[in-house]
Amino acid sequence: SGKWGRAEALVRELEEQCGTPIAKLRQVADAMEVEMHAGLASQAPTRLQMLITFVHNLPSGDEKGLYYALDLGGTNFRTLRVHLGGKEKGVVKLESEEVSIPPQLMTGSSQELFDFIAAQLAKFVSSEPEELHPPPGRQRELGFTFSFPVKQTSIASGNLIKWTKGFNIEDVVGQDVVGELTKALQRIGLDMRVAALVNDTVGTVARARFSDQDVIAGVILGTGTNAAYVESAHAIPKWQGLLPKSGEMVINMEWGNFSSSHLPLTEYDQALDADSLNPGEQIFEKIISGMYLGDIVRRVLLKMAEEADFFGDTVPPKLRIPFILRTPDMSKMHHDTTPDLKEVGKKLKDILEINNTSLKMRKIVVEVCEIVAARGARLSAAGVFGILKKIGRDKVKAGEKQKSVVALDGGLFEHYTKFRSSLESTIKVLLGDEAAETVSIEHFNDGSGIGAALLAASNSHYL
Ligand code: ADP
Ligand code: MG
Repeated sequence: SGKWGRAEALVRELEEQCGTPIAKLRQVADAMEVEMHAGLASQAPTRLQMLITFVHNLPSGDEKGLYYALDLGGTNFRTLRVHLGGKEKGVVKLESEEVSIPPQLMTGSSQELFDFIAAQLAKFVSSEPEELHPPPGRQRELGFTFSFPVKQTSIASGNLIKWTKGFNIEDVVGQDVVGELTKALQRIGLDMRVAALVNDTVGTVARARFSDQDVIAGVILGTGTNAAYVESAHAIPKWQGLLPKSGEMVINMEWGNFSSSHLPLTEYDQALDADSLNPGEQIFEKIISGMYLGDIVRRVLLKMAEEADFFGDTVPPKLRIPFILRTPDMSKMHHDTTPDLKEVGKKLKDILEINNTSLKMRKIVVEVCEIVAARGARLSAAGVFGILKKIGRDKVKAGEKQKSVVALDGGLFEHYTKFRSSLESTIKVLLGDEAAETVSIEHFNDGSGIGAALLAASNSHYL
C-alpha cells in the first residue's frame, strides 16, 4: 500500500543520506588530519581545539600508592579510590561510588554543582576504615577527570572553554574548574589536594599506558565522544613553553566538535542540532555519541509517523518528546534476536506507548537503528584512522614492527555490541591487511577514573 511505500522511501532516503562508503570515510579522515594540523598551529579558536594537556610523562607502570579520582563528564558522577601496585601488581584495588547528576544541577549554578560533588566525595572518604587514612601531615591527593573542553594552564589548573553534553552552567565558563572544586572542598572541610586535572580521554591514555607502552591514543564513546593522543612536542607549533624532556605531549583533540562537508548529515541531524543547547557545535558528537543516537532514531520514526502513518492514523504523542528514546533502548531493539522481534515490540510499547506493532513495522524500526548506529560507528573509525595517519601509524614502515594500541572506553563502546564491531571492522578495512596487523583497539574499563588517579600519583607532592 501507499503507506508502506512512503515509509520504505523514507528509510531508503535515510540510508542514502547516512551512507559512509570507504571512500567517504577516507575523506573524513583526511579532513580530520587537516583540522588537527590547524588546531596544533593556531592560538585562535579552531574547529578542533587540540588542547595541550600538560601531560608529557605518561605512566611507566611503576606507580604505587593510594590515590583518589573524581569523574565528572556526562550522566553520572563517580568517586574512586585506586590502590596502585606498580608493575607487578597493577591496579590492586578499585573502589568507586556512582551517582547520577540531578538534571537541575546540570543547568544551575557553579556553587551548587561543586558543592554536590564535594559532598559526595566527603561522604566517600568518611566511610573509610582507619587503615586507609593518610599518615599525619599528608594530604589525600586526587585526579579530577573533568570531561569538557578546558584550556589548561598547568597539570592541575584550567579554565572551562564551554559546556557540552547537556550541561550549561554559565558562571563556570572561563573559570578554573580546579579552583571551583577546591573552594567547594574547603567549604565542606575536606582536606584533599587536586593533583591533576584530566580529560577522560587523557585519563584513558594514561590508564592504558600503565599496562601497555604501545598505547598511542584514547577514545571515549559514551554520552559524548572525544579523543586524545600522544603527539611529538615539536609538532605543536602553538606550544610556547620549553619542550618537555620526554619529547611528547598528550593532546586532547575535542574531536566532538569536528565538522566537515564530507560528513553525511540529514535533516534529522540538522533539527537535532537546532534544538540543542549548543547549536552549530559538536556536530561530530551529535551523529556519533550515546546522548544523541536514540534521539536521531526517534526523529526518523516521528517523520515516518507523520508522513506515512507508519504507526497508524494518529502520531503517537510520546514520539514527540525529545530524548524519550535513549540509546541503550535503541541498542536493545537493534540486538533483538527473537524471531518475532519481541524486544522491539516491548520497547515501542513501554517507551513510546505504541501498541500492536506488526513484525513488518518492527523490522523497519531495527533497520533505522542499524543505519544510524552504523554511520556513527564508521565515522568513529574514520576519526581513529585520521589520528593514525597524523602520527604515521597507518602504514607499516619497512623493517619496523611498531605496534600501536588505541585505548577505548565509554558506555556506548562497552555495551553497544553492533556499534563496537562495526567500528572495529571498519578500522581494519581502512588500514588494510598489513597495517591492521600492527594496530589494535583495546577496551580499558574505568580508564578515565584510574587514569586520573595515575596522573595524581605521577604529580604527587610526596614523590
Ligand atoms: P559518560 O560518557 O557519561 O561518562 P559512560 O561512559 O558510562 O558515561 O557512557 C554512558 C553512555 O553510554 C550513556 O549515556 C549511553 O548513551 C551509553 N550507553 C550506556 N549503556 C548503553 C547500552 N546498553 N547500549 C548503548 N549505549 C549505552
Ligand atoms: Mg565517562
